[in-house]
Amino acid sequence: MSFLMPRHSAVPRSLLLVGFFLNCVWPPAGVAQSCGAQGVAVQVLGSGGPELQDKRASSSYLVWEDGRARALVDAGGGSALRFGESGAQMSQLDVILFSHFHVDHSGDFSALVKSSWFEDRKRPLPIYGPAGNDFMPATTEFVADFFGDKRGVYRYLSELLVPGEQGSYKLQPHNVVGSTKPAAVFRNGDLAAYSVRVIHGGVPALAWRIEVGSKLIVFSGDTNGEGGLTELAANADLFIAHNAVPEGAVGIERRLHMPPSVIGQIAGDAHVKHLVLSHRMLRTLGKEEQTRTEIKKRYSGPLEFANDLDCFPMK
Ligand SMILES: [Zn+2]
Repeated sequence: MSFLMPRHSAVPRSLLLVGFFLNCVWPPAGVAQSCGAQGVAVQVLGSGGPELQDKRASSSYLVWEDGRARALVDAGGGSALRFGESGAQMSQLDVILFSHFHVDHSGDFSALVKSSWFEDRKRPLPIYGPAGNDFMPATTEFVADFFGDKRGVYRYLSELLVPGEQGSYKLQPHNVVGSTKPAAVFRNGDLAAYSVRVIHGGVPALAWRIEVGSKLIVFSGDTNGEGGLTELAANADLFIAHNAVPEGAVGIERRLHMPPSVIGQIAGDAHVKHLVLSHRMLRTLGKEEQTRTEIKKRYSGPLEFANDLDCFPMK
């Protein structure tokens, strides 16, 4: 630091000041991220929906443990930038989980993978998401559509997927059919992931529970609330639910999403300890008090509205 320089240094005073201000404004490279440096925390990378005018990245969440980003849930548009801002590295991840493959949950996947190419990841990267149907690809198809060696749009990176090709690590996609009962999907050390199938119109969709040590974190994904979400969320330390429609929504909006009364019912029935609302859209932004009132009729615990890069440490 310039203050420690000798008083009669040969370095011109103006340069010392420049150095001082550079040091103040930009943290030096290698500074640890602030979320989850100790213990378990969830960081919201994207708190918005598909609309760019919400001025939020689309859906994406990071689970941190002791300074390491262990799991990524969804990778909507804008989340790759937030991932970098969070201080996370792709080489830290144990697993990527997808709730479904709408653009606002998966649009930045390829950007994250490309960034990982510059890191020194050696171990495979497991990726779990829904099985497909006539409308949506299965997880294995989704990944191959990007990185497959024959038809993948980014086939120039096929070494990250195709067995036998030279590459520092491999993506390992898996399809999860899911049922209404929570089922174990992935485990590595003290981190485990469970899923249930949820209803999101005709789109194959999953809700996820991540257990890290004794902490339970549940991600609703996009769903109308039917299915096994309440059981999955039972006694969660943190329940992140998607606030995509206001109370009174009807038609296609209601067939795709949970209104606040349904979120409150599930959070209350599941006795979750902390509720965070995310996937905030133009139709719910500005209605927070109405939303809070509806939820409080059925759930009395702490409730917060998420913003990009918010950090929720587990107590
Ligand atoms: Zn969505």
